[in-house]
Amino acid sequence: MTEVAAVDEAPSGPADDDWAAAVAAVRDLPADARVLLICHVNPDGDALGSMLGFGLGLRRLGVRDLQATFPGPAEVPEPFRWMPGVELLVPQDDAYLDPDLVICFDAASKSRLGDLVDRLDKARASLVLDHHASNTGFGRINLVDPHAAATSVVALELLDRLGVTLDAEMATGLYVALTTDTGSFRFEATTPAVHEMAARLVATGIRPGDISRRVFDTRPFGAVRLFGEVLGRATLEPAAAAGHGLVWTYATHDDLARHEQPAYVLEALIDSVRCTEEADVSCVIKQSGEAEWAVSLRSKGAVDVSAVAVALGGGGHRFAAGFTGRGALDELVGRIRAELATATLIAP
Ligand code: AMP
Ligand code: MN
Ligand code: MN
Repeated sequence: MTEVAAVDEAPSGPADDDWAAAVAAVRDLPADARVLLICHVNPDGDALGSMLGFGLGLRRLGVRDLQATFPGPAEVPEPFRWMPGVELLVPQDDAYLDPDLVICFDAASKSRLGDLVDRLDKARASLVLDHHASNTGFGRINLVDPHAAATSVVALELLDRLGVTLDAEMATGLYVALTTDTGSFRFEATTPAVHEMAARLVATGIRPGDISRRVFDTRPFGAVRLFGEVLGRATLEPAAAAGHGLVWTYATHDDLARHEQPAYVLEALIDSVRCTEEADVSCVIKQSGEAEWAVSLRSKGAVDVSAVAVALGGGGHRFAAGFTGRGALDELVGRIRAELATATLIAP
């Protein structure tokens, strides 16, 4: 099998020059500058939360012509619709065509920006805020910190350097982002600095109980029934991933339609699957088109699923990654199995 990757191989965060360039790009904006914020397709809590939290910070700095958007249908997943800053959102087709500054959030590559990539190319300046080790550095200025638990960590640091005073509205988005990407402070990336940031955010007066209930613990009853069905057909393959084990399941458009559910409810499915003790790797395959699937991969630490996702055309982090798969479901599962059989193991 396999090379063994060192645990701490990710490159370090942004250099002082990058921070200085990012601060200048915002500070030196003319009064009539149009600023466009873009986060990744199928936005999650980190993508939306860091974008809207940062956007409200730009408002405080006096940026007037400001839009936030993401590729694809303009629908914000229900759990995030209440967040302060959603009023900044516009459908992708309404986004400035040639903004003065584009700022991207939580996107590791241009491919995560869908049709909005042309805005990036046309913008006078571009700034990328992210925390994926696989980030391709596609901005003119790149603030990428692979050690950051969420993109909102990078966003808050930039707001601090811009001299913006944190308030509860900004803190709400940044907190949603931080709790989403740390699995509510359960994942490996939950360092003392993460808790210190959370303390700062909570000290603004936001209510973590309310926020967690809205984001993580409120779903339609139909979603509960849908989960029952989809979890009922989960498959455990103990010999997969070189004996570390794989557990997987899938959900189709037909499953969603039968239970009258929107696609976003499936985002939480991976958490119910990955608790399987007998498998290091978990996988949820969600239909996203006629013969197209959004694949989520998680690892408990033995297997680098980011490398698996990259090999299959996607990206992500070592313990949480994904890709878009095409073709028949059984062939797709076969490709995942094959990639896992020779996957990179992470040193204990
Ligand atoms: P998800 O399973 O959708 O929650 O995504 C887990 C991680 O994988 C996130 O950090 C995503 O940025 C990354 N990811 C998911 N899908 C893709 C994709 N199609 N291409 C690149 N990265 C992805
Ligand atoms: Mn994300
Ligand atoms: Mn993230």
